[in-house]
Amino acid sequence: MDRRDFSKRSLTLGVGALAGGATVRRGAAGMSEADSYTEPAKRLPVRQADVVVAGGGTAGVVAALAAAQQGAKTVLIEAKGYPGGTVTEGGTALHSFYNLWKAFPGVEKRQVVRGIAQEIVARLAELGGTSGHAEMSVGYDYDSVCTAIDTELYKLVTFEMLDGAGVALYMNTLLTGAIMDGSRIRGAIAESRSGREAIFAKAFVDCTGYGDLAAFAGADFSEPNDYPVANSIGIGNVDVEKYHEFLKSHDALTQRAEGVRGGRDGQIVRLDGRSGRLPKGFSEGASKIGMSVVTTTCHDNYFMFIKLNVKMPVSPTSRDAVAKAELELRRRQFKAVELFRKYVPGCEKAFIARTSPRLNIRRGRLIKCDYDITRDDVLDARHFDDEVFVYGFHDSAPRLQIKNGGTYGIPYRALRVAGIDNLLAAGMMITSNHDAHMSTRNTVCCMGQGQATGAAAALCAARNCGTRDLRYAELRQALEKGGVYFG
Ligand SMILES: Cc1cc2nc3c(=O)[nH]c(=O)nc-3n(C[C@H](O)[C@H](O)[C@H](O)COP(=O)(O)OP(=O)(O)OC[C@H]3O[C@@H](n4cnc5c(N)ncnc54)[C@H](O)[C@@H]3O)c2cc1C
Repeated sequence: MDRRDFSKRSLTLGVGALAGGATVRRGAAGMSEADSYTEPAKRLPVRQADVVVAGGGTAGVVAALAAAQQGAKTVLIEAKGYPGGTVTEGGTALHSFYNLWKAFPGVEKRQVVRGIAQEIVARLAELGGTSGHAEMSVGYDYDSVCTAIDTELYKLVTFEMLDGAGVALYMNTLLTGAIMDGSRIRGAIAESRSGREAIFAKAFVDCTGYGDLAAFAGADFSEPNDYPVANSIGIGNVDVEKYHEFLKSHDALTQRAEGVRGGRDGQIVRLDGRSGRLPKGFSEGASKIGMSVVTTTCHDNYFMFIKLNVKMPVSPTSRDAVAKAELELRRRQFKAVELFRKYVPGCEKAFIARTSPRLNIRRGRLIKCDYDITRDDVLDARHFDDEVFVYGFHDSAPRLQIKNGGTYGIPYRALRVAGIDNLLAAGMMITSNHDAHMSTRNTVCCMGQGQATGAAAALCAARNCGTRDLRYAELRQALEKGGVYFG
């Protein structure tokens, strides 16, 4: 789907009506009076900022913190009532702060992502909200560590950090449009119960996951629909040790990590298994509902993130198709807990303790940027002269691994939205190649992208320059000062 199709559909759905006057006129032109409605022009209140970050999820939290750290007057627009996004709703653990040293004997153990991402984990640890960087004892050719989190505490910790940093928090607020001045974004349109408003700024960062701001601004994008959607669940009243025994007794255990759980170190915090080796009723049931048996936890009686997948027939930007998938996922959640109750010792009284407010996706829109990170860049551990941090995890390991347990660089140009002068993108919306995306979309990579884009946007705002005019040396210096590791 090209951007004209998007504009048309946005108009039909009543969103993005202010994505540039030209867009609105073009969409309305082909419609009859009977099946369309022309919104009357409306005078909006305007707020002024240096940087607007759209989307307060995995990348956006870090982007807003980084922009504020640079002294930028920063507005964060987040649709939900809390920050965190998919990191609090979809994943099993934060992958990954480390290189894959354990799978490559002799390779040095390095924490390759630091900075703000590490600060969040450190603050979580103070509240007992993480397993820490727990070392994998089984399955370390997949990841060397497991960093499990208490998702509710993650929301609180990041909320406090944003508030403390002086970020203007527009929570429960939907970004609904972009005001364009040629190829420059002048302002973002946001809507909440306080009304519809315009936020003018010098630099913008799209961290909406779906690339809503970029799409509203007229950037080129596609919708590959190359992943299933999910609504992961937290299950209460379970026994981690007994689940471990269950997997082991069927020779099905593939992953285990030991870290902090229930306030004690050295406890099991991650388990995964080969479903096909488990009792037939369980494995067949799991396969029917797209359930993975992986779990992480930092509490004794709780399984975080039982993953359930549904492959949608069309892109997850289709409202009606999403509604069907939401219902199907909730049916599957019920069946998942039934399977645990019936087959897994210690889970006889398990119940659904948490779900996500809406389904999650590993990729919605793919936004075109100045550079597209390739499969070879990732697997060959390539580095760039404009890199903004380094990363060392691949979600398809051990099948696909980063060469020699090393790292690759994320170049600044891969975060600049093509064709727009003052817009950066961070998170799952970048990287077209599926095998490369299986690395760049992971939480810790998104967080690293967040720090880079937030710092860059703030520097652009301070210098009054476009994202392509920012001196790399200046950005690099700011990132190093912010604790980013370049290895
Ligand atoms: C089921 C599943 C399992 C996964 N498992 C793992 C795992 O185990 N480990 C791992 O490292 N990664 C995992 N991932 C990948 C990783 O979680 C995501 O790729 C990453 O969190 C995406 O971060 P993001 O910042 O791009 O988007 P998000 O974290 O989703 O943030 C986007 C934010 O923008 C907000 N938003 C969106 N549109 C608007 C709008 N118009 N106005 C205002 N706000 C808006 C959203 O509410 C959200 O808070 C998983 C993903 C899924 C879906």
